[in-house]
Amino acid sequence: MIQIKNLVKQYQSVVAVDGLSLEVPKGQLFGFLGPNGAGKTTTIKLLMGLLKPTSGSISIGGVDIHEDPVGAKVMIGYIPDRPYIYEKLTGMEYLEFIADLYSMDKSLARSRAVKFLEFFDLKDFADELIEGYSHGMKQKLIISGALIHTPKVVIVDEPMVGLDPRGARQVKELFRDLCREGTTIFMSTHSLGIAEAMCHQVGIIQKGRIIAVGSVDELRQQAEHDHGGLEEIFLKLTGDNEMQSLIDSLKAT
Ligand code: ATP
Repeated sequence: MIQIKNLVKQYQSVVAVDGLSLEVPKGQLFGFLGPNGAGKTTTIKLLMGLLKPTSGSISIGGVDIHEDPVGAKVMIGYIPDRPYIYEKLTGMEYLEFIADLYSMDKSLARSRAVKFLEFFDLKDFADELIEGYSHGMKQKLIISGALIHTPKVVIVDEPMVGLDPRGARQVKELFRDLCREGTTIFMSTHSLGIAEAMCHQVGIIQKGRIIAVGSVDELRQQAEHDHGGLEEIFLKLTGDNEMQSLIDSLKAT
């Protein structure tokens, strides 16, 4: 469903994405992990068509994002990590506005909006201005907006930031259900516990290159780390053993 081929993005002297190739099949929840500055946000912006690649190609559901950007984008729901939201709308107005951008039928849009607001415990706030919402409530509204048009592909940057445990559980369940129904989710996160619990496959990017890709069990084998959790595997594959020994020596003193 998502095909990335030899993707390169260079900013002046920095090569942020360096020959990245990946395939994410339909119905899969793919976790995109990597240290700070590895190239995750740049890859997501390229996937969204917000940045032009230096070279390489991206196709979503068989549609090349640079040949037919609108055709590809209607299939995508995007959940950014630092969202911009116009706060002078009510929650319901916001969802109806997003649905309108996708030319959705008004009664379908309203019924889907009501379902999301109920699911995220926001129904009683549907007619309140967003400026009165908490950070977590805004995040839930943004997730609802990204999903209202039933996208085939969901691209998510750090979905759980600002959510309380119930909200995080709701999002996990929602994502699992979406994948079961055939939606493909590409999720960038630093939360290795979430990636381990949720993802069918994870890819680790470092210095713009994919250094490992597979299920957590496959990565465990690649890292030759028989019983490690994703955190140990991640640190080993990204060469951060030094940090672990520093922590161990701090503990010992
Ligand atoms: P983090 O986990 O810290 O958010 P990331 O994996 O999302 O990091 P990117 O934001 O994609 O990493 O950055 C990858 C590299 O590209 C970094 O070296 C960064 O400094 C550089 N970079 C990102 N955006 C720009 C830009 N607009 N101009 C120049 N360099 C940039």
